[in-house]
Amino acid sequence: MKFDCIIIGSGLAGIWCAKFLNEAGLSTLIITKKQVWDCNSFYAQGGVTIANDENDVPLHIEDTLKAGSFHNKKEAVKILSESSLKLIKELSTYGFRFDPGVTKEGAHSIPRVYHKGGDATGREIHKFLFQKDKSFFIDEALVFDILIENNIAYGVSVLHKNSQYNIYSNNIIIATGGIGALYKYDTNARTIAGEMQGLAIEKGITLKDMEMTQFHPTVFIEMKFSQKLLITEALRGEGAHVVDENGKRFLFEYDKRGELASRDVVSRAIFLHQQKGHKVYLDVSMFDEEFFKKRFPTIYNKLKDYGINVPYEPIPISPAFHYIMGGIEVDLNSKVKNFKNLYAIGEVSNTGVHGANRLASNSLLECFVFAKRAAEEIIKNNFKTNSKNFPITTEKLFKNDDKKYKNMLREHMWKNVGIIRTEKGLKEALNFIENSLDKVGRMAKLRFLTAREIVKSALARKESLGAHYRID
Ligand SMILES: Cc1cc2nc3c(=O)[nH]c(=O)nc-3n(C[C@H](O)[C@H](O)[C@H](O)COP(=O)(O)OP(=O)(O)OC[C@H]3O[C@@H](n4cnc5c(N)ncnc54)[C@H](O)[C@@H]3O)c2cc1C
Repeated sequence: MKFDCIIIGSGLAGIWCAKFLNEAGLSTLIITKKQVWDCNSFYAQGGVTIANDENDVPLHIEDTLKAGSFHNKKEAVKILSESSLKLIKELSTYGFRFDPGVTKEGAHSIPRVYHKGGDATGREIHKFLFQKDKSFFIDEALVFDILIENNIAYGVSVLHKNSQYNIYSNNIIIATGGIGALYKYDTNARTIAGEMQGLAIEKGITLKDMEMTQFHPTVFIEMKFSQKLLITEALRGEGAHVVDENGKRFLFEYDKRGELASRDVVSRAIFLHQQKGHKVYLDVSMFDEEFFKKRFPTIYNKLKDYGINVPYEPIPISPAFHYIMGGIEVDLNSKVKNFKNLYAIGEVSNTGVHGANRLASNSLLECFVFAKRAAEEIIKNNFKTNSKNFPITTEKLFKNDDKKYKNMLREHMWKNVGIIRTEKGLKEALNFIENSLDKVGRMAKLRFLTAREIVKSALARKESLGAHYRID
């Protein structure tokens, strides 16, 4: 089997990239680990940031840079914001329309976040785009290798229906998302495990800013599934209060912006308040029930299932791992450094737009903008690989104790590589990771390699910056 393009991952970045490749007549195969919707894009609630008009571009850029502690790549941020201006027209020409009105989220100076289906933005966009997608498609297929020689990617190895085989292509696009499963508490889809970042390390591909991991401040963690329920930032943007068991809005003790401070600030404040023995809640009692139900239907229904009578009863919340700003280093056209035909798009990539912390709702926008740029670059380059056959790795993909080690990793990452970091804790995590690497199968090993890179980067950055917070 040989295609013009293989896209690994069926999230928004992958599917949006496929749209342009298909329109250009390139044969495109999307490979995805589980079901098509089993991705973070499907669970996105708040929305997509789109600059209001040309006058808003400088302010959107400034908000993005401020949230990212000015660690961002300015050129990439400019492209992000300027390209957003065309997105509404592009989507509506394709047949997709957002809900009327825009909302404001934490650290945005003005309202500019578009949503759909109330708090079901990701689900609605993803469903719409997938229904129109014309790619070849394999689900329940796990990519466990990328076949590389002399800086050219020739194809991938997949495990599909209990058999392992190679698929070849002229271009490979990695769109495998973030790293949620590395942390004990996380908001991510169950398929998001950071394996491709580990594979990148194995292949000598550069990762950047891996210490920059974002924790979402308002997550309902009292549920049995490993994926915890995110309580969208839009709620705080629209007036919800973070309070403790005494009803006190304690965030103002940490930052004068209170609920509207950036994610890292709010997460740290909640974490520190919890460490002082307090319980933390999101008070949504100021919302009318009918409005709440219509505007935030996912949250309303899920919390009712867990016996929380919103909006009358406060929602118990805690921070949880949410998003990684770091990833595979790419240029402004999403091409992996030193490669002729390898691309990374969406959360797995590091375009530089988010810097040390991501501005809320900038990641779906990044998927749209940089996935399209990747497609345009691929179409322009028209790169062809020679026919070549690669052997399949003989490494065992899974071992008996993988689950045990993966759970221990999740504990270590949460405790030692979380919201507040110290050299002692980071070294403890590093020690555990290095001693575990040869005990697990290949797929778990790839996760461990990613985790090791996060820890090493966190150790190397001795000062606090953005989402990376060192108390020593
Ligand atoms: C609960 C939640 C709410 C969010 N809300 C917002 C929001 O409102 N606005 C915003 O901008 N951002 C939001 N985000 C972040 C945003 O959703 C993600 O950053 C974005 O969707 C990532 O898209 P992606 O296409 O890069 O990856 P994903 O959508 O995560 O897709 C990754 C794909 O790769 C596949 N995959 C992974 N590994 C393999 C493998 N080894 N083999 C084969 N396939 C593989 C997965 O199965 C999946 O299909 C939210 C995230 C979460 C978790």
